[in-house]
Amino acid sequence: MALIVQKYGGSSVGNLDRIHHVANKILQTKQQGHDVIVVVSAMYGETDRLIQLAHALTQHPDPRELDILISTGEQVSMALLAMALNAKQCPARSFTGLQLGIHTDNVHTKARILEVKTDVIQRELNQGRIIIVAGFQGRNEHGDITTLGRGGSDTTAVAIAIAVRAQECQIYTDVDGVYTTDPHLIPQARLLPQISFEEMLEMASLGAKVLQMRSVELASKHSMPIRVLSTFSEGQGTLVTFEDKIVDKRLVSGIAFSREEAVISLSGIPRQVGIEGRILGKVSEAHIEIDMIAQNATAQNTVDFTFTVHRREFPKALKIVEELAKELGAVSVKTNAKVAKLSLVGIGMRSHTGVASTMFQSLGEAGIPIQMITTSEIKISVVVDEAHLEKGAKAIHQAFELDKSPQPLAKVMIE
Ligand code: ADP
Ligand code: ASP
Ligand code: MG
Repeated sequence: MALIVQKYGGSSVGNLDRIHHVANKILQTKQQGHDVIVVVSAMYGETDRLIQLAHALTQHPDPRELDILISTGEQVSMALLAMALNAKQCPARSFTGLQLGIHTDNVHTKARILEVKTDVIQRELNQGRIIIVAGFQGRNEHGDITTLGRGGSDTTAVAIAIAVRAQECQIYTDVDGVYTTDPHLIPQARLLPQISFEEMLEMASLGAKVLQMRSVELASKHSMPIRVLSTFSEGQGTLVTFEDKIVDKRLVSGIAFSREEAVISLSGIPRQVGIEGRILGKVSEAHIEIDMIAQNATAQNTVDFTFTVHRREFPKALKIVEELAKELGAVSVKTNAKVAKLSLVGIGMRSHTGVASTMFQSLGEAGIPIQMITTSEIKISVVVDEAHLEKGAKAIHQAFELDKSPQPLAKVMIE
């Protein structure tokens, strides 16, 4: 008998039929003799709907009130799931994050979990009941409801699994596991039986929303294996684990992308020491996060300074940059609010050269101009026009044969 934490995402509990289906799956796990703690997301689309409601009312909803509002989505699905289980003669009780004792910091809408109390869990398990917990939420030191950022139910599940020392944390979703890239964009994407924490962390931070980045970070820190599985079909899914446990080592594991980028470029700035700090200082004073940065010196003793921000922040960032351009005497401000970031991720890059050139060649052959490039130890990211995203992802996927089983070469190289 094991203690298992299962998380069901928004589409898995998207309507009453699906809630019945999830209740049957939980029942099956219980009948196998396991204790189960379940974390649920809001029904599909509900969190978006609640956020839109708030923004239709006011441009800047109070963060405390916004958290109270958007945490309710999970409260609906948890109660319905508990009712469905009870109707199947399976004792279950649902709890909000506040009731369960999920303690977070005070950062509304992006809170981090500090502690998960286990006394309620223990009491309910002793009574033989299934515990259903609302994902995505907790309480701060003032007793106020906080939420954990979009996709935060994954993190709730991992945090609970760590607190109760579960055998593994199972994340049930609408795809069979983690693929080489989003299977909804690239049908040739292949299911990965395993992926390392490090690669999964990169994939999540670069836009693969299958797991929230914070959940991977937490699981890796506390050595909690995560298994991503489908709610709707049988299978082993994907195990997210440590690098040394990966059987089929590959040069690259996957492609992640984000459509939510925008580029701003200041060109013809008279060259002077400290100019970069001045530009970025103004942008970060406005709490705008900068992603990629590039700078070129020109023959005219000026520099061109280019950076990317989240598309949501684009109008605000542009206003700042236009003012700066006047102050600095820059020649022009160029923008593109419709760009995407395409990233290739793989631990094999550490020990292998030529990955970047293959990636850039494949984009070149597909006729896709690269606007910016950044690299780190296990990833290469490029900014391309959003219209080229799908074609670019396909080209890279094919160039690295990600649709095929890993080549023996990849094995030899790591050994
Ligand atoms: P849930 O509501 O279950 O939390 P999400 O929508 O948050 O589900 O995450 C699952 C989705 O992640 C999939 O439907 C898929 O479109 C997307 N996704 C992006 N990249 C990947 C990937 N590499 N592997 C699997 N799914 C991915
Ligand atoms: N319901 C929240 C969201 O849509 C949390 C989650 O689904 O994980 O972001
Ligand atoms: Mg999710």
